[in-house]
Amino acid sequence: MDRVLLVEDAKTVGRFLEKPLLEAGLEMVQAFSLAESQQILREDVDGFFVAILDLNLPDCKPLEVVESIHRAGIPSIVFTGNFDERIQDMVWSNDVVDYVVKSGRGSIGYVVDLVKRVRSNRKIEVLVVDDSMVARRLITRLLKIHQYIVHDAGNGVEALEVLKAHPDIRLVITDFNMPRMDGFDLTQEIRAQHDKREMAIIGVSAQGDNRLSAHFLKNGANDFINKPFSTDEFYCRVTQNIEMIEYVREIRDASLKDYLTGLGNRRYFFERCPEICERAKSGSAKIAIGMVDVDHFKRFNDTYGHDAGDVVLQHVAALLEAHCAADDIVARFGGEEFCVLSNERPVSELVGFYDSLRSVIANSHVLIEGEKLSVTVSIGVTTEPLDSIDEMLNAADERLYEAKNNGRNRIVLAS
Ligand code: GH3
Ligand code: MG
Ligand code: MG
Repeated sequence: MDRVLLVEDAKTVGRFLEKPLLEAGLEMVQAFSLAESQQILREDVDGFFVAILDLNLPDCKPLEVVESIHRAGIPSIVFTGNFDERIQDMVWSNDVVDYVVKSGRGSIGYVVDLVKRVRSNRKIEVLVVDDSMVARRLITRLLKIHQYIVHDAGNGVEALEVLKAHPDIRLVITDFNMPRMDGFDLTQEIRAQHDKREMAIIGVSAQGDNRLSAHFLKNGANDFINKPFSTDEFYCRVTQNIEMIEYVREIRDASLKDYLTGLGNRRYFFERCPEICERAKSGSAKIAIGMVDVDHFKRFNDTYGHDAGDVVLQHVAALLEAHCAADDIVARFGGEEFCVLSNERPVSELVGFYDSLRSVIANSHVLIEGEKLSVTVSIGVTTEPLDSIDEMLNAADERLYEAKNNGRNRIVLAS
């Protein structure tokens, strides 16, 4: 479990933070003084990915704890009761992630969200494009404090190369004036391939011309920052853009997922197919499709109720997923019907593979109202590389119908 260090002399603050952090899968350790935090870090320096710091501790001046945690290489969030501009400047110069003024429940939520943000950022890749080394270093440093994985480039042409090499980059922060390819052209090039909702672009420029910002935005940028900017503003804009990208992704993922079993749905299946079919065409291994349908499923519903039927579906889905390889696709097509696409498996193993899915389900039990119930499936399989996935699905469906007619709990192969 990821761990958070809280340096704070008030027990109540720890109590308020502990529960929401735990709900987010984070363990919190509280030190009640600077000395105690140093003791904890001496024993366990690699154990914390972020620290939350009170500035008014019994054994030190306000900024000593910030400096001490900074030296230990741990990003920190300042969470304090009294705050003024002088402290604000000193806080930023010690590379803190952010500061939050204590003011009831709202501020607790804000701190917890920040901690979660820092944790997620460790997997998010950002590209900084600027021909000025100084500007690039400054932005890179700010992003690294927030734990982003940062790439950089000196102009638009280089930026496109970096994007190609790192397809997971989700945010590009680009200067306007650059040799070879400027920020506008880069923005347009990126937009030819990536939608605004899947890759964010923030334009940055020092020209002090507000027509430039509108021009940037009309060319496809998501946002614009004028140089010089405050650290606060920079972080707010970066975070907002990253969150927008994450929301879009969450909605997309949800639309491809079957809520009951957690498997991909029919739409997910058809989204993944083209890429797999392309690969299958060039390789020696064939793809195969098995339509899997639970036998007499209606009886579970009729005898034990709809909720019990749901448990049976979850049980079958989990077994199918556990017995497929990462390259295969398992999807719930609807009702009690699943589709298993076998990928990269030698033809000689296909019958064995689909029959093992059948037998692992037939040999399992699902626990309903304290009773161990058996469940079986019928599977129609096609290994013929027909012209389209639709044709393969139809062929598999026909075999499934045959399997049902021949007595169920069996596979029938089209070849
Ligand atoms: P066969 O062996 O011929 O496939 O018979 P069957 O009873 O499995 O098939 P049938 O198509 O007659 O019945 C499927 C039932 O599945 C009907 C439908 O109400 C139920 N069903 C569909 N979706 C769900 C679901 O999400 N949860 C539950 N509990 N039942 C569902
Ligand atoms: Mg059925
Ligand atoms: Mg059915």
